[in-house]
Amino acid sequence: MISTLRFPRRSYTGWGSIAKLFEELEDLKPSRILVVTDQTLVKIGLVHQYLSPLNKQFNVSLYTDVEPEPSLACAERLAAYAREGGFDCVIGLGGGSALDLAKIAAVISQNEGDTADYLNLSGTRKLKTRGVPKILIPTTSGTGSEVTDIAVVSLEGTKDVVTHDFLLADIAIVDPQLTLTVPKRITAATGIDALTHAVEAFLSVNANEATDALAIKAVELIAGSLRNAVENGENQEARTAMSYGSYLAGLAFFNAGVAGVHALAYPLGSQFKLPHGESNAVLLPYVMKTISSTCRNKLNRVCNILTNHGEERSEEEILTLFYKLVESVGLPTTLKEYGIPESSLTSLTEDAIKQKRLLARSPKPLGKDEIYQIYQMAFNGLN
Ligand code: NAD
Repeated sequence: MISTLRFPRRSYTGWGSIAKLFEELEDLKPSRILVVTDQTLVKIGLVHQYLSPLNKQFNVSLYTDVEPEPSLACAERLAAYAREGGFDCVIGLGGGSALDLAKIAAVISQNEGDTADYLNLSGTRKLKTRGVPKILIPTTSGTGSEVTDIAVVSLEGTKDVVTHDFLLADIAIVDPQLTLTVPKRITAATGIDALTHAVEAFLSVNANEATDALAIKAVELIAGSLRNAVENGENQEARTAMSYGSYLAGLAFFNAGVAGVHALAYPLGSQFKLPHGESNAVLLPYVMKTISSTCRNKLNRVCNILTNHGEERSEEEILTLFYKLVESVGLPTTLKEYGIPESSLTSLTEDAIKQKRLLARSPKPLGKDEIYQIYQMAFNGLN
């Protein structure tokens, strides 16, 4: 079997790696830089702390109209702004929302038409040019967007993506310092998101030995640091392990794909505005139980790393393990807790089934019945 492994052109990781931004910009010599970030990061001073020194040397414009889980309209506004501005470099600084929009600014603004024209489920056009160089700098340890070729947008009922090699970062800078200020609940949600990337990539039908190695290392790092990062946000060791774990999980899933958890999470994000990490977290235990019969050995290996304890587990034990993990970082474990009505499970199922790209990587085929049952289990919880 032939397998490929794709990466951004260059990535820097580790404490202090943000310093590499200047070296890279000195090489690139851009004349107009667009920084895509969000208002919270401006408010807490993070943008000023890390990017204000750029102003001495470069012409920098700040764009902060970034919604969490950005809508298509938000992406279109930014693409239009970027097209007008004539920028020759884009820096994305933030969580997955800002990084995905930075990809859109860099690429869609240089192609004809709108973001909607290039969506995976409904788009009709193919991207023709790579756009301007983009440098992606995550401030959460979760999405892995800095190393993937995907930009996610929220639609009415579900989410969709623009996905193409052109969206891959030229430079990714993954500096754990920038995550020290992430609040507890967002640390938990983004951390479970990163774990879900690693686990789904490991179990994906497209996994290979290289993606398995990336995924397993990511699970080890996240298992050893997630609770500590949630409880002690200032802990540099925990933030560093989470940052590197999220980066490796991003590389694993970019190359092997994510599957059922993400397919079912997208409608929760769009219909009920659950943050992406929380949508994954509330579904993870129930999807793992459902698919466990088809990937027991690999799933058991993940469970052994998570518990630091080697044993064979039943479907129910796997369910309980993931349930307790989500509970232990303080996140809701049922759809009921989010106030999602049972009557919406049918429409959630109808939207999830449209995510064929994601569902195709599931080790167990998930049709309408299985998907409905997973939502039903997630609605009721363990009791
Ligand atoms: P986010 O970017 O929406 O950020 C969540 C909140 O955290 C925001 O309010 C933000 O201001 C705040 N925040 C971020 N960094 C902070 C910091 N250092 N200190 C304090 N607050 C901080 O959340 P996210 O989970 O990182 O990204 C979610 C988005 O990414 C969704 O749209 C999701 O669909 C997408 N996503 C993309 C990919 C990809 O490969 N492109 C993968 C997974 C998810």
